[in-house]
This record gives sequence, C-alpha cells and structure tokens, in this order.
Amino acid sequence: MMNMRLARPEALVDINHLSELTRIQDTGDAVEIGALVRHAELEKNPVIGCHASLIQQAERLIAHPAIRSQGTIGGSLSHADPAAELPVLAVLGDWLFRVSSAKQNRIILAADFFLSYFVTQHASRAYRRQLAETLLNEALHLAARQNSGERRG
Ligand SMILES: Cc1cc2nc3c(=O)[nH]c(=O)nc-3n(C[C@H](O)[C@H](O)[C@H](O)COP(=O)(O)OP(=O)(O)OC[C@H]3O[C@@H](n4cnc5c(N)ncnc54)[C@H](O)[C@@H]3O)c2cc1C
Repeated sequence: MMNMRLARPEALVDINHLSELTRIQDTGDAVEIGALVRHAELEKNPVIGCHASLIQQAERLIAHPAIRSQGTIGGSLSHADPAAELPVLAVLGDWLFRVSSAKQNRIILAADFFLSYFVTQHASRAYRRQLAETLLNEALHLAARQNSGERRG
C-alpha cells in the first residue's frame, strides 16, 4: 500500500517480530499457515507442496522474487486486491481465517471475509493471527477443477 502511495498512515505497527505467525503446520485435518508467512516460503515449503500444491503454482505467478521475499499471505489476503492470486484461491478452496483482537477470536470463511474489492471483515483494531486452510476437501475440489479442462487467464 505504501509502496504504491495508496496509504500514508500516521502510525505503523510492526508485527514482524511475532514469530508464532511465521509457522506452517500440518495438523492432520488442516494446514495452518501463519499470517506472516512470506510468499517465497509458500513457494518452496514441503508441507504446502504436499497438501496444497495449487498455492505453489499460484505463488510463481505473483510479481517477482523481490516482492515475494517480503510480501506475506496475511498482507495479501487483508489487502483483498481482486487481481491478486491468493484471495481467489481462498474463496475457491473455502479457506478459514482465524482473526483475533484483544477481545475475541473468530473463525471466518473466506467467502464471508471478503466483502468487496479492497474491503474485508477486519474490525479496524483486529488483526489476523493465523490462517487455517481446510485440507482434504479443498485439495480434492481443486484437483477436480483442474482436471475438468479449466484454463488459466
Ligand atoms: C510491485 C508489486 C507487484 C505485485 N504483484 C502482485 C501480483 O502479481 N499478485 C499478487 O497477488 N500480489 C502482488 N503484489 C502484492 C504483494 O505480493 C503482497 O502480497 C502485498 O503487497 C501484501 O504485502 P505485505 O504482506 O507486505 O502487506 P502490507 O502491504 O504490509 O499490508 C497490506 C494491508 O494488509 C494489512 N495487513 C497486513 N498484515 C496483516 C495482518 N496480519 N492482519 C491484518 N491486516 C494485515 C495492512 O495493514 C495493509 O492494510 C504486488 C506488490 C507489489 C508492490
């Protein structure tokens, strides 16, 4: 947002030190992806490659390596750019978002999270803690779509 001069915030909160948000874990029935996981990590992570390879295919289409080395999945989804790759995957795959504020924790289905382009359900003071991607249904669903002759572009 700041790179493109779309936002000039008066204050910034640096969440880069929240190491618990950098994890990718296979919990058995889901793959949980921390909001601070960067595109470059998603592109090469073996858990993602094994259970959600479509994410890796999409990642390779995002900008270029310098952008992918810094941009995060949480930032990409929160930004809700209609031209971005990950929000589309999230809605198609019925991903679940874990959203936390000081007062409450919520799980939100991707289709409900995105209200319009660049507009999400974030309460202004809430921030994303972790994203959980539903695993088996999503992977099977997407595999079926790919095999039905769908084309890119
Ligand atoms: C030149 C350029 C080309 C790009 N090309 C593509 C492309 O081809 N495809 C594509 O999909 N994307 C593209 N992007 C987007 C990029 O890949 C990042 O995903 C995106 O910029 C988000 O970056 P970030 O993680 O640094 O988030 P930021 O820019 O820091 O944040 C984006 C927004 O999300 C909010 N936010 C960030 N993290 C959280 C959180 N954890 N919880 C709540 N809110 C949060 C911020 O407050 C801000 O409003 C491009 C970006 C640039 C600069």
